[in-house]
Amino acid sequence: MRYELLKDVRLYLFDMDGTVYLGDHLFDFTKELLAAIRASGRNYQFITNNSSRSVRAYVEKLGRLGIEAAEDDFVTSAQATIRYLNQNHAGKRLYVCGTQSLIEEFRAAGFAVPQDIEQTDVVVLGFGTELNFKKPEDICKLFSKYPDMPYIATHPDFVCPTEFGSIPDCGSVIEMLAHATGRRPIVIGKPEPLMVELARDKFGLAPRQVAVVGDRLYTDIKCGINAGAVSILVLSGETTRQMLAQSEEKPDLVLESGAEILAA
Ligand SMILES: [Mg+2]
Repeated sequence: MRYELLKDVRLYLFDMDGTVYLGDHLFDFTKELLAAIRASGRNYQFITNNSSRSVRAYVEKLGRLGIEAAEDDFVTSAQATIRYLNQNHAGKRLYVCGTQSLIEEFRAAGFAVPQDIEQTDVVVLGFGTELNFKKPEDICKLFSKYPDMPYIATHPDFVCPTEFGSIPDCGSVIEMLAHATGRRPIVIGKPEPLMVELARDKFGLAPRQVAVVGDRLYTDIKCGINAGAVSILVLSGETTRQMLAQSEEKPDLVLESGAEILAA
């Protein structure tokens, strides 16, 4: 049966825009779906690649849309980056090209982010909505002096949607720096599996007990596949059936929207 593989799912990881809401409009099934998941003894988390905003800001955004969420209901690319840094570069000093809120998150996790760029062990690139040209210049300076310095990016998205269209996101800065330095970072967010692994560990679950639900094939669905999770594409966001037919990423399940999970 079509919904058979949902039976073993204990944890739903929801992408946000295009999946639980669209812009500033909450889908009408979302509230009921979230309540039903918890009522059935299962759980859910919201996962986001955007590292420019703190979890607090997302709690507020969902609150405005009528969804009561706690900070613990989120898995962000910044959190997954911190976990990666703890596993691979514990105690190292960071140069962070990102927002002040991202810098604060690293500091709160125990990482030093010194003012003096000479005091850098690892370069971390986030979504720098406060970017000025000094930061790319600093990174070029560091890489010319230390060509093997560890280099990590929170997520690979090229653009971030706004009310008027798109603005450059972390992935665009990755490309800019690749042209200038020849270097490419290790990427943490979707489609890489690290955020899913973080969520899985949080709840102590096996890969197929987790479902990644999202509207983007090359981030959400690819992430689910890379993590060995159940991947569920919803057609309530940016992906059309035509895009799906042409895509190499084949989700386990294709739904018109999250309302179908509720029905199942
Ligand atoms: Mg989305």
